Amino acid sequence: MVSGRAATTAGCVTHVERLPARAGVGVPWPQWVPQGLRERLADRGVVAPWRHQAEAAEIAWRGGHVVVATGTASGKSLAYQMPVLARLATETKATAIYLSPTKALAADQLRSVVALADETVRPSGYDGDTPTAERDWIRQYARLVLTNPDMLHRGILPRHDAWATFLRRLRYVVIDECHAYRGVFGSHVAHVLRRLRRICARYGSEPTFILASATAGDPATTAGRLTGLPVAAVTEDGSPRAGVTFALWEPPPLPGLDADGVVDAAPVRRSALMETADLLADAVSHGVRTLAFVRSRRGAEVVASVARRGLGHAVPELAERVAAYRGGYLRDERRALERALVSGELLGLAATNALELGIDVAGLDAVLLAGYPGTLASLWQQAGRAGRAGREALCVFVARDDPLDTYLVHHPQALFGRPVEATVLDPGNPYVLGPHLCCAAAELPLTPDDLLLFGDQTEGVLDALVAAGALRRRPTGWYWTGTGRPDVDLRGSGGLEVSIVEAATGRLLGTVDPAAAHVQVHPGAVHLHQGTSYVVDQLDLDDAVALVHAEEPDWTTHPRDVTNLGVVSVTSYVDAGPVGLFLGEVEVTNQVVGYQRRRLTTREVIDTRPLDLPARELRTVAVWWTIAPSALPDDVECDVPGALHAAEHAAIGLLPLVATCDRWDIGGLSTAAHPDTGVPTVFVYDGHQGGAGFAERAYLAASDWLTATRTAIAECLCEKGCPSCVHSPKCGNGNDPLDKAGAVAVLDVVLGALRDARR
Ligand SMILES: [Zn+2]
Ligand SMILES: [Zn+2]
Repeated sequence: MVSGRAATTAGCVTHVERLPARAGVGVPWPQWVPQGLRERLADRGVVAPWRHQAEAAEIAWRGGHVVVATGTASGKSLAYQMPVLARLATETKATAIYLSPTKALAADQLRSVVALADETVRPSGYDGDTPTAERDWIRQYARLVLTNPDMLHRGILPRHDAWATFLRRLRYVVIDECHAYRGVFGSHVAHVLRRLRRICARYGSEPTFILASATAGDPATTAGRLTGLPVAAVTEDGSPRAGVTFALWEPPPLPGLDADGVVDAAPVRRSALMETADLLADAVSHGVRTLAFVRSRRGAEVVASVARRGLGHAVPELAERVAAYRGGYLRDERRALERALVSGELLGLAATNALELGIDVAGLDAVLLAGYPGTLASLWQQAGRAGRAGREALCVFVARDDPLDTYLVHHPQALFGRPVEATVLDPGNPYVLGPHLCCAAAELPLTPDDLLLFGDQTEGVLDALVAAGALRRRPTGWYWTGTGRPDVDLRGSGGLEVSIVEAATGRLLGTVDPAAAHVQVHPGAVHLHQGTSYVVDQLDLDDAVALVHAEEPDWTTHPRDVTNLGVVSVTSYVDAGPVGLFLGEVEVTNQVVGYQRRRLTTREVIDTRPLDLPARELRTVAVWWTIAPSALPDDVECDVPGALHAAEHAAIGLLPLVATCDRWDIGGLSTAAHPDTGVPTVFVYDGHQGGAGFAERAYLAASDWLTATRTAIAECLCEKGCPSCVHSPKCGNGNDPLDKAGAVAVLDVVLGALRDARR
C-alpha cells in the first residue's frame, strides 16, 4: 500500500458480492443487414449480433419505437446502428438524427459510425462548436447528424425551414443514454422531442424512435413519457460479462481527533475522497487501470491530486499517469484526457459523471465509486466500466459519511437485491411546458390539433400564456408575440453558466452551473481546477463571471444559507389522526448568507464570514408531514426542533432510495410551529422550479422512505448524531440543533400513525 494504511483497511470492507461472469448469446445477422455493413462490422471484430441487439434492431427496422435497456458495454450502439445504417444504405435519400446527452458521447459515436457507414451517409457532428461554414454543408449533405437535445432545441428546430429537406426525409431518431433525461432536464427534453415530432409531421415525416438506456426500472413507460409514443422495451441482455468482485467499503473513524477540533463534536469518518485517492494510488502503483467516479467536480480534483501526491513519494514516474476529468473543463482538455485513458497513457482517472455518459471506455481493471452515485442505475452504469473479456474485475463502493451511503454499506440487499429505480420525469410541469409551448408557437403557430401532443395540461397553460401576453390567440391558432426566440435553457437552472476566470491572466478555467454559483464560487470560496487551488475574489452575477487567483490555503469553505417556505396549495393528503402527510405546492426563498472556513485536515471551524448575495425564489412541489404536539413523545418535548431537524436531514439523505434524485436536488425545512400548519412540520421539496416529480414519489412511497430513514438513524452507532445519520453536508444551519434519539421517536409516531390510518 502506497499510503501505508494496510493495517487499518481490512476492517473497512463491510460486504463482498461476487457477480458471476455471463456467457453471451449470439444470433445470426438479420436478413436485411447489407453485406457491406456486415463486412465493416467484422473488420471491427463484430462477427454476429447479440440477441438483444438483433431483437431491438428488428423492431426498429419494422418501424416500431423501441428502447433497449441493458447493462454498460452490452453493445447498445449496434442495436440502433444496424437498422439506421441499413436504412440509409438502402434508401439513398433517407436521413437520421442521433441525440446524446453529452458532446463527448456524440464525438465517440461519430468516430464509430464514420467507420461503419456508406460514404453517401456523411455522418456529421453538429454541436455548439461546429463552425458556421460547416453547418451549411451539414444541412445540405449529411444524412446522419449527431447532435444533442440542446442543439436540436436551439439550432435545428428554430431554423426548421433551413432543415426542411433533411426533416422531410427523417426516418430515425436515436436517443442514446436516455436515462440521463430525468427530472426537470428530462421534462424539457420530452417537450423538445414533441416539438421535433410536430415539425416532422408538418413536413410529412414520422420518424421511428430508437432509445438506448442503462438498466432502468420500467424503461418502456419512461421512454413513452419521454417521446410521447408507445415504445417496446428490450431488456434481456444477451452480451457476455466479465466476473466482478464488488466490495462495499466504509472508511474508518478518524483517530486521535480532539472533540473540540471536530465540527459539532461528532465522530467523523475519514472522507470517502481520501480513501478513494489512496485506493486509486494503490491500484495505479500495481499497474491496475482504474477509474474512480467522484460525485462532485471538486471531489474529482481532490482525488486526483491526493493520489498523485501519494504516488509522488513512492513511485514518482507513476504520478504523471493520474488525472482528473470533469464537466466544466474545456473541450480540448477533455479530448486529450479521453485519448490518454484509452491509449493506456493514463492509468488512473478520477472522473465525475461527465464521463459516466461519456466515451466508450473499455479495458479497465477496476472501478472505484466515491459515494453512492444517486441511483442504482448510475451505480451499475459506472460499475459496468470495469471488466475486460475473460478477466476478473474489481469494483469498490466507498461510503461517504452520510446516512444513505452508510445505510447501503450495511444493507447490501438494498444494492444487490433490488430492481433499479424507474427514471422520474414530469412533462406536465407547467414551468417546463409553458416555455416549450412558446418555442413551438415561434417555430410554427400552434393549432388545436397540437394540444394532444403536449399533454393534458396544455389548454390551461396556453390560456395563462395568452393572459400573460406571451402568445396571441387567433382563429387559426396560437401565435408567439415576441420578436426574437423564446429563451429557454434545457438544463433547468436558467441563466448563463458562470465562467471562472483567472483575474491576472484572463484565462478561462471552466464554468459552473448558475444555480450552483452562489454555493460554489461565492467571494472567498476555495475552488480547485486540475489540482490547482484558486480563491474567488469576486462573483459578478450580472456578467456571470467569477474572478479567481491561484492560492493554496489550508482551509475549505462551506456556505451557510437561510430558507423560508410558504404553502401555496395542497394537492393530496393522508389524514392519519395526529399525523398529516401532504403533497402540495410551496414557495421557497433561499439566500446564501455567509460561509465557514474549516481546516483542510481536521475540519475545525476557523471562522464564519458574511456574504451579500441576493435571495433566490423557487415555486415548487413539496411533501410534508405534521404532528399534533400532543402526540409527540414526552422525552423529546424538550428538543422538538432538534428532533424534527434531524429527521428532516436523514429523510432527505434517504430519499434517493425511492426516487431518482440525489440529495442536492432536494431541499428541506423543519420547524416546531410552521405559520401555515400551526404545528410541528417537516418539509422536503424539489429544488427545481415547478418541481421534478421527486416530492411526489416521496409522498407515494412515504412508508418505505420513512421506515428506511428511521432504520438508518436508529442503527447508527454514534451517540448523538453524526454525518452517517443525521448530519447534512448542505445544512445551511451548521447542523444545529439536532436530536438523534428524538428523531427516531418522532419517526415512530409518524410511521405508527400512517400504519393505523391504512388499516
Ligand atoms: Zn450517526
Ligand atoms: Zn439542516
